[in-house]
Amino acid sequence: MLNPLPPSEKRKQFELCALGLRDFAGVAAEQPLDPFALAQFAKLLVVDFDSIEGLSSESRTHLLGDAANEWSGGACSRPLPNGWRLVILNPAHGKQRNRATLMEEVAHVFLGHQPNRLAVISRNPTVREGAAPNQTLARDYNHDDEEAAYAVGAAALVPYEALRRFVTQGRRASDIARHFRVSRQLVEYRIKVTHLWKEYKGASTSLAEQV
Ligand SMILES: [Zn+2]
Repeated sequence: MLNPLPPSEKRKQFELCALGLRDFAGVAAEQPLDPFALAQFAKLLVVDFDSIEGLSSESRTHLLGDAANEWSGGACSRPLPNGWRLVILNPAHGKQRNRATLMEEVAHVFLGHQPNRLAVISRNPTVREGAAPNQTLARDYNHDDEEAAYAVGAAALVPYEALRRFVTQGRRASDIARHFRVSRQLVEYRIKVTHLWKEYKGASTSLAEQV
């Protein structure tokens, strides 16, 4: 049976890549995907922020405090001698956002993107599509690759078919987020880019009317 796909041509392509990744990971249609398991196949070594040596306590405090919203994490562009690449995730962002950041790095690898340099990327998933330039401190991939990796990663975490079913059932974004172990913002981003927002809002209105 064919999977239903989101309406726009671009989203269809992203969804197919995401479904390929989910297939590779061996997860069923509604099952949450674990990016940490996939990271191994992408030869990405996730390093605990606290284990980074050479960071002064001032830098540490800055990165997790004042500057915590300015970076989400990233991979080193230069691989280790064994071919693996280091990934650092911002512990101040919590597990759900870390999963989306890591999934994007995994998607870059599976999509065969070539990184340019070490970079720390800032992002806000809710405004990603029309992101202001100042939200990105530096890029490690070109714009199209960044867009594709983020979109494919998000689609792998929150696949369209299950999302559409949940939305139709009137489930809230926060509830769907808990199910897929991602942030509510990521679910809302997915609902919007796959053109389910109207249906989502409609479902919440009709629920409210029943109360
Ligand atoms: Zn990226």
